[in-house]
Amino acid sequence: MTVPAVMSAMVLDAPHQALAERQLPVPRPGPGEVLLRVRACGVCRTDLHLVDGELPEPRLPIIPGHEIVGQVVATGSGAGRFAPGQRVGVPWLGWTCGECEPCRSGRENLCRRPRFHGYTVNGGYAQYVCADERYCFPLPETFDDAHAAPLLCAGLIGYRSYRFCGDGARHLGIYGFGAAAHIIAQIAAFEGKNVYAFTRPGDLAAQEFARRHGASWAGGSSDLPPTALDAAIVFAPAGELVPAALAAVKPGGVVVCGGIHMSDIPSFPYRLLWEERTVRSVANLERRDGEEFLPLAHRAAVRTEVELFPLTAANEALERLRAGRLSGAAVLVPG
Ligand SMILES: [Zn+2]
Ligand SMILES: [Zn+2]
Repeated sequence: MTVPAVMSAMVLDAPHQALAERQLPVPRPGPGEVLLRVRACGVCRTDLHLVDGELPEPRLPIIPGHEIVGQVVATGSGAGRFAPGQRVGVPWLGWTCGECEPCRSGRENLCRRPRFHGYTVNGGYAQYVCADERYCFPLPETFDDAHAAPLLCAGLIGYRSYRFCGDGARHLGIYGFGAAAHIIAQIAAFEGKNVYAFTRPGDLAAQEFARRHGASWAGGSSDLPPTALDAAIVFAPAGELVPAALAAVKPGGVVVCGGIHMSDIPSFPYRLLWEERTVRSVANLERRDGEEFLPLAHRAAVRTEVELFPLTAANEALERLRAGRLSGAAVLVPG
């Protein structure tokens, strides 16, 4: 396949700035890497946290994007897992050291020297990207490029959050009904669980969106659900939702915080945590999450709702996400 010398990319030079459109050299795949022509890249809330300077020590300048669907166009030395022409997905986790204590104890998501796409190594807001082939996933053919993109972070992190709710959780609350929630609600419904969706109070459109995607009940975040919850996932980056979710879960229940960044959690009475309720966070992903989740998304016939933007409209897509004016997930499609 012929690969051009230069590509278009959207680059973050410094926080609190719009991304800049640049012509950059197409990267060359290093040992063990594949070079991908990007066919679609999802826009994740983490990208917004990056632009807003809410994530520590990004490598700047950086090309954001970690929900990448790409076609292999070249391989580096020693890379043989995927053939040129094959379609793969690239998530947030780009590389781990394999040597630190978390890596050696099977918790690569907590690696002390990790690389993350779109944060410490370049991501998919570009026409081409390189990725370590060991961290790429084959994608089920049932999803076209744009509809597959949100599976790679919203889906994966959502799945990891869902997993921590426990198999026994029958009544599951979801606070913040965006890209991750609309995927995980479908998985939960497929597995016979009841999903209760909590949106910004009065956001009837979001509540209707939630009901269309597997929620059996939808209401405002200050409402109590019709039945006590076994577990709740907080996807919205709003710390005040943690005590609200604790108030809605049963004794022994868990509240899982699914985001990479959240505003401060206000103090709350101990009785909300009493009776062995748990609050926990989810950090990054393990490859195992993708190996389990992507086939499950295929079996559950998950339908992602996407809104397409040209690559050069990345700033507009981010602003729409910030304003909550997206139903489903924004996906960039390079020309
Ligand atoms: Zn490590
Ligand atoms: Zn993400």
